Amino acid sequence: MVNELFPSVLEPGTDRAERWRPDRAGDYCPRCGASCGAGGATPAGCAFCVGQRIAWHRIVRLGAYAPPLDARVRTMKFHGHWRWASRYGRLLGRRVGRPIDPQRIVVAPTPMHWLRRWRRGYNQAKLMAETLAATRGWPMVEALVRPRHTPPQTAVPVSGRAANVRGSFALAGVDLTGYEVVLVDDVKTSGATLSACVRLLREAGAVSVTAAVAAVADPQHAGFKRT
Ligand SMILES: [Zn+2]
Repeated sequence: MVNELFPSVLEPGTDRAERWRPDRAGDYCPRCGASCGAGGATPAGCAFCVGQRIAWHRIVRLGAYAPPLDARVRTMKFHGHWRWASRYGRLLGRRVGRPIDPQRIVVAPTPMHWLRRWRRGYNQAKLMAETLAATRGWPMVEALVRPRHTPPQTAVPVSGRAANVRGSFALAGVDLTGYEVVLVDDVKTSGATLSACVRLLREAGAVSVTAAVAAVADPQHAGFKRT
């Protein structure tokens, strides 16, 4: 088991050799996060999300879930390379834009069930959220908890993911009335986890929620080639 305080792995190297650069606004749909191509999104969304209900206000991503980012994210989640989380949190912090009121914004991670946290040794979303918050000087609040242990979303077909997380999350008793929230997760695929979390944050009074994720995966596993 990897521990946050005493990691068994060294910090990964830099990206220079692979020439990876994080996405900029305009590289993807700000509504669903899909790789829709330059000019492919309007305020109503893109070909991947038009007509769909989206729970969050907008989404910020660092890239598509494709090489080399997909392998990095898996390494971050499953192989103890938790330090990538700090790097992604910092990069996202530079991309989430300005709040309406700098006094009324908080950063919240998607929560992890205690058993998974114990097995993995860390919650990568929380580490990302901590660094994002520190980068911007905003508070990080664990506004949500995950009292029910469910199979990982990656082990469930996309069509069953909303049902898999239904009832998995709960509010931690934080009053977010009048606050903007930046909700942090590692990967968005179906959006079921983020949607469930956003609904609860709105119940707690959040006026808007920005989803901030390291990578967005195509739910159809087609590399965003097929709408
Ligand atoms: Zn879209």
